[in-house]
Amino acid sequence: MKRRIFSAVFILIGLLVLALIIHIKSSDNINTIELPEEIIVLKFEFTNVFLVPINDGYVLIDNAYEKEYNLFLNYLKNKNISIKDIKYILLTHHHDDHVGFLNKIVAENESVRIVLAKETAELLRKGKNNMENGGGIVNPTIYTLFRIKQMLTPSWNLTFPPYIICESDIIIVEDYFDLTSILGINLVAIHTLGHSSDSTTFIYNEKIAFCGDLASNFLNWAGANYSTLFNEDINIVYESWKKLIDIKIDTIATAHGKSFHIKNLENSIFKNSQSNIVKLF
Ligand SMILES: [Zn+2]
Repeated sequence: MKRRIFSAVFILIGLLVLALIIHIKSSDNINTIELPEEIIVLKFEFTNVFLVPINDGYVLIDNAYEKEYNLFLNYLKNKNISIKDIKYILLTHHHDDHVGFLNKIVAENESVRIVLAKETAELLRKGKNNMENGGGIVNPTIYTLFRIKQMLTPSWNLTFPPYIICESDIIIVEDYFDLTSILGINLVAIHTLGHSSDSTTFIYNEKIAFCGDLASNFLNWAGANYSTLFNEDINIVYESWKKLIDIKIDTIATAHGKSFHIKNLENSIFKNSQSNIVKLF
């Protein structure tokens, strides 16, 4: 008898988990948008990395964890792209899941030029995610999931190999910094702080925002509401969202989850509050 009850409970839990997975999958895919064909999306464990073609090669937007370098090389090989075809690497901010194998690319491609904010350059020297500005996880449910991920991956320590900029790198010195004449494609860098104090969004063809972690399409079912799980200050995040809404772009190409329409930010703005976050530090 006990055994039957145990089996029934076990099956019930299984069905609940299955229903939850289906719900998660469907809720995170609402209102997604396919990027234009010329943009190559490379999917890593948590991070999306983008390749945008230019005249003589590609611009790479961000990279992933250091341990994912071989996967990156495999992606390039499968697409017949040489690492030397990457002419520029644009960085949205300094976090470990966006800069992990930067040094490895530079070691194999010395002519590549890094495009980054002055604040990102300073933080990259330190080799770890900046924790001096405080901040936290968007709500208690997501905080619990975050801690579970930490327990399952003890090697995850928010560090990365430090990068020291060189003379040929390009520093974004002002807001709305136009990179068009340098890259040969229509690309403007704007300061979009809040997730981190060095966050930059790159606007492509006045329509697509490569926003790094300013917004995400991940764990919306758990109340993320299109914000990234961690933010230094959600109110500053929302000020940055307003900047994107005001300049009338239409697509958010996020580093976490599928690309989506800007209307989702308009609908989700102010849904989370700084008072609800769970402080990490
Ligand atoms: Zn980040």
